[in-house]
Amino acid sequence: ENERNKLATVFLHMTDGIVAFSGEGAVIQFNPAAERFLGLKLTDTELRFDEIFGDIAPLSRVLDMGQDEVIEGEKENGSRSLDVFLAPFRGESAQGGILAVVHDVTEQRRSDEMRREFVANVSHELRTPITNVRSYAETLVDSAGDLPPETEQRFLNVILGESDRMTKIVQDLLALSRFDAGEMQFTMVPFDLTESAVKVYEAMRLDVEKHGIDLHISLPTEQLRVYGDQARIEQVIINIMTNAERYTPSGGSVTMELERSKDTIIVRVRDTGIGIPEEDIPHIFDRFYRVDKARSRAMGGTGLGLSIAYEIIKRHNGEIRIESKVGEGTAVSICLPRLEGAGT
Ligand code: ATP
Ligand code: MG
Repeated sequence: ENERNKLATVFLHMTDGIVAFSGEGAVIQFNPAAERFLGLKLTDTELRFDEIFGDIAPLSRVLDMGQDEVIEGEKENGSRSLDVFLAPFRGESAQGGILAVVHDVTEQRRSDEMRREFVANVSHELRTPITNVRSYAETLVDSAGDLPPETEQRFLNVILGESDRMTKIVQDLLALSRFDAGEMQFTMVPFDLTESAVKVYEAMRLDVEKHGIDLHISLPTEQLRVYGDQARIEQVIINIMTNAERYTPSGGSVTMELERSKDTIIVRVRDTGIGIPEEDIPHIFDRFYRVDKARSRAMGGTGLGLSIAYEIIKRHNGEIRIESKVGEGTAVSICLPRLEGAGT
């Protein structure tokens, strides 16, 4: 009885699920984790080993195994993925039973899946520019100088453009992997966000207006001081401004607004562009996520910009929010903690 109580306490606090069966296949002990993982009421005396784990191995086979042998199997319970280990144990009276250990590997499977998807995405993104570079270079080599100079020039420009695109992808991926590894260095200083916003605004104005988009800026008169990595914050503002420009047809408008609330400073970029469907909004910060792959790629987008922006803002204890309506436009807001005690 004493041993049993000791075991029961150990079982209760284990994160793995444990079920012990008698040699006849009846449940003799289990812990709450096992019930939760398997989604079964194990107090139900009708439930036998073969009904629970028979799909992995029948009772008789497990009982016949050697003392140090284990059978490993997998089970699914709804959206949960489980790894199961089955091993026999011998009792004093030779009448032993089976011990089943259940691991919940749902998270692990999910992250394996994400990693696979990520690698597939990277390969896919690089394959197109590589193929283009190769075929244009090949044509140039094969033509041995016989092509009209304009055509040659055009081909060389394609090669340059595709090389730039690959460089951008690789740089973005390196940045993300540094964020993931916690290796990204930030140079944190107090600075005036108005200055950064105006800088980005000025740098982008000509280009945006060239696309037939009206650009506006709205600034409060007070200083809006924050503490952060100025270059990286500017990189984020450039990214959301570039998105607004990319996804707004000519004739539309883009507005940059700065605003101070009690503890935060908000930079908001509003556009009157194509908007983002509601079901895509939750995924918009995922790596390589694009609403319309073809359209974004044609614009030079890889779907990494917002995921990098998200990492940068997170490191500043800030927030980035998106509101959007298809056909009406999008507003992206970056909220950063306001630097206390700074001038008004
Ligand atoms: P990158 O920024 O890496 O060059 P990208 O612009 O395609 O590529 P993100 O900035 O991460 O990638 O944006 C992801 C997707 O979100 C875009 O492909 C686009 O579909 C959508 N999106 C982002 N901003 C807007 C916007 N202002 N209006 C409409 N759609 C947008
Ligand atoms: Mg972008």
